[in-house]
Amino acid sequence: MAPTNPFDLTGRAALVTGGNGGIGLGMVLGLAAAGADVVIAGRDRAKNAEALAAVESLGRGRAAAIEADLAGEAACHALVREAAARFGRLDVLIHNAGITKRVMPEQLALADWNAVLHTNLTAALLLAQAAYPEFLKAGRGKIVTIGSMMSIFGAPYAAAYAASKGGIVQLTRSLATAWAKDNIQCNAILPGWIDTALTRGAREQVEGLNERVLARTPAGRWGRPQDLAGLAVFLSAPASDFVTGTAIPVDGGYSVS
Ligand code: NDP
Repeated sequence: MAPTNPFDLTGRAALVTGGNGGIGLGMVLGLAAAGADVVIAGRDRAKNAEALAAVESLGRGRAAAIEADLAGEAACHALVREAAARFGRLDVLIHNAGITKRVMPEQLALADWNAVLHTNLTAALLLAQAAYPEFLKAGRGKIVTIGSMMSIFGAPYAAAYAASKGGIVQLTRSLATAWAKDNIQCNAILPGWIDTALTRGAREQVEGLNERVLARTPAGRWGRPQDLAGLAVFLSAPASDFVTGTAIPVDGGYSVS
């Protein structure tokens, strides 16, 4: 039998929430380069169009963009339905969309807590529930969630964010145990400090943050969105068919320093 490339994603369709920029786009480009058909979901139409153009310029994989806000249950279900319709199937769900609210816990408004928890955590469950029947149809499925160093550590200004990122790991492990029997693997990626719009604000606002990140990261640099692409491809590909329930840091050594 001819050897097959375990990282080949040809013929597989992936939905990446928040795929129109930052880490999401880094992963989208990795998936497309591996041959996948990728559906990019984001709220910002202009960013969606730029992300589509970036995939098209690769000349590999196909891409579609859906303007979507993960605001509620119906929206999450509709997004998965529409994404599956774009390429006639769904094999991979990457829930990457995420927000934060930088504020001390004593000042954290309930509305902000709810928004962060919904986007980062609750939407993952809703999307996974909607994707489950698609995966059953395909006879396989991959769910990749995005945690954070704050899945492991706390931070004074990140109560809601850290709660959501701790929760996403436990949700991912639970889905992994529930759906392994259906040939569905569920794993979390825990990025370290990655240079994106999300961290750029903090970097500008918080004095000394840049220096602290550089000093604490053994690799001695911020991560780049493309640093996440390899693991995203692995966790979406046949290469990881016996890997489930893991939470893997991509952090230049931050979590072990
Ligand atoms: P960005 O702010 O660059 O990207 C966030 C993405 O989420 C955007 O594409 C945005 O789309 C999308 N998004 C946010 N809210 C919604 C919503 N309600 N509906 C649909 N899409 C939404 O951040 P990053 O790339 O840095 O972050 C990506 C993920 O990685 C997040 O989950 C984040 O928590 C995580 N992470 C990031 C780290 C870092 O250092 N950067 C470290 C650890 C984890 P749009 O602009 O169209 O609204």
